[in-house]
Amino acid sequence: MNAPETVTSLRTVEHFIHGRDFRIAAPRRAEVYDPNTGNVQAQVALASATEIDRAVQSAVDAQPAWAALNPQRRARVLFTFKQHIERDMDALAAQLSAEHGKVHADARGDIQRGLEVIEFVCGIPHLLKGEYTQGAGSGIDVYSMRQPLGVVAGVTPFNFPAMIPLWMMGPALAAGNAFILKPSERDPSTANRLAELLIEAGLPPGVMNVVHGDKDCVETLLRHPLIKAVSFVGSSDIAQSVYQQAAATGKRVQAMGGAKNHGIVMPDADLDQAVADIVGAAFGSAGERCMALPVVVPVGDATAVQLRERLVHAIKALKVGVSTDPAAHFGPVVTAAHKARIENYIRIGVEEGAELVLDGRGFALRGHERGFFLGPSLFDHVKPAMRTYQEEIFGPVLQIVRAQSLEEALQLASRHPYGNGVAIFTRDGDAAREFADRVEVGMVGINVPIPVPVAYHSFGGWKRSGFGDLNQYGMDGVRFFTRAKIVTQRWPRGGPVADQSFVIPTLR
Ligand code: NAD
Repeated sequence: MNAPETVTSLRTVEHFIHGRDFRIAAPRRAEVYDPNTGNVQAQVALASATEIDRAVQSAVDAQPAWAALNPQRRARVLFTFKQHIERDMDALAAQLSAEHGKVHADARGDIQRGLEVIEFVCGIPHLLKGEYTQGAGSGIDVYSMRQPLGVVAGVTPFNFPAMIPLWMMGPALAAGNAFILKPSERDPSTANRLAELLIEAGLPPGVMNVVHGDKDCVETLLRHPLIKAVSFVGSSDIAQSVYQQAAATGKRVQAMGGAKNHGIVMPDADLDQAVADIVGAAFGSAGERCMALPVVVPVGDATAVQLRERLVHAIKALKVGVSTDPAAHFGPVVTAAHKARIENYIRIGVEEGAELVLDGRGFALRGHERGFFLGPSLFDHVKPAMRTYQEEIFGPVLQIVRAQSLEEALQLASRHPYGNGVAIFTRDGDAAREFADRVEVGMVGINVPIPVPVAYHSFGGWKRSGFGDLNQYGMDGVRFFTRAKIVTQRWPRGGPVADQSFVIPTLR
């Protein structure tokens, strides 16, 4: 790969604090690439403690008045925000895919799945309702309420620049918190645009701030005494470290990690449908999804032979193109470094003895030879002990791991260190039901290749795919960004004073 061209006048992506861009003199900056061309297209500021303090102080100042609004008024702001996103959907999708590299239709899907969480939290008055017990004891009533935490933060990965920030900011803001977003420095612009749209929708300045940065910025956020909770989504080693650091300072933390999702194909599956589903889920967004399907497990030799033949046929028909090409199935990967990492995994797979059936390395798109493109790759005869099976590749690489029985396939998915998603393709209801019951994975699809739960359920993986005990969005999102208070009340009725008691109160 040649060095990127030097670009003289670059757009800069600044922090967004208290309702506007925020700059300091001579900040550290990182480069933002155009994955289609390989050129640097912008620079993003990297926050130091000064900018983070400013963002936190702005949030601390703004949060009490926001929390004091009745929840219906907060919901109205979010409803207007939803309308603004819908109005600007095409422009947002174009901005997103220009930095990420996913094709335009997929960028719209990225925004749409986040938007559905905003729709869900427009019902926040209902979602915050507590419980009430009248007459829990003589003259005693008990009720509960959910209150915001204060200032909370979200740290998000590059691969869903709209959906994942929206997963977090929706419940956080609706519940009455102020939210500080630290998006990926690789595709940072969507975050600023979402923050601008919130201001336009009527959110008071300071209730939503965006700080950009890298590891240093995240660690400063994790140490900050005024931040009460951190929601993180990214790779597993970093998720685990964020979980430990945040917990050590007494913060509430949820940290979603990487994935290696398996698609089990039973002998009775509708093979044509399964192949269509698997190819879309493995190669959509160039495989850069935590709910991608990079491992396919045919059950039985006959299934493996037929599946492989059809997969090869379908994969050869895929079109790789620039993110603006409406005919492209997927675009470039996000950076040159990520492309090199994927190529390295393909090399290791060959060295480990897997059969490289289709090799996506060396793919060049005419006119975009320096873009971060890779063609689709397919491995067969991948074995569980191989490093390329154990680790997340996060690129357009599909691996076939053959199994002889449903039990063997189930154990493969269950024993894998990651436990985000899994899918089974079958016509057998008994097999599917048993699989869903026993498999040690957080999200299961039955003839559904990408089982990302709808906005009113919750999203979260098991094992190294998720640290912490509450999932993203749905009621878990509301629970994560609130704390419960339970009130036990008795009102004086007059009459004789009750005796002193030194015994724990019990129900009689
Ligand atoms: P990443 O872990 O490199 O970065 C995630 C965030 O952490 C970014 O904002 C980044 O700036 C920050 N960061 C980077 N290094 C850090 C460090 N040492 N300490 C603290 N913060 C740091 O992830 P990525 O490459 O942006 O995204 C891809 C990964 O995210 C994949 O592993 C994918 O599976 C995972 N992911 C998981 C889910 C999920 O819900 N489980 C969803 C999407 C993506």
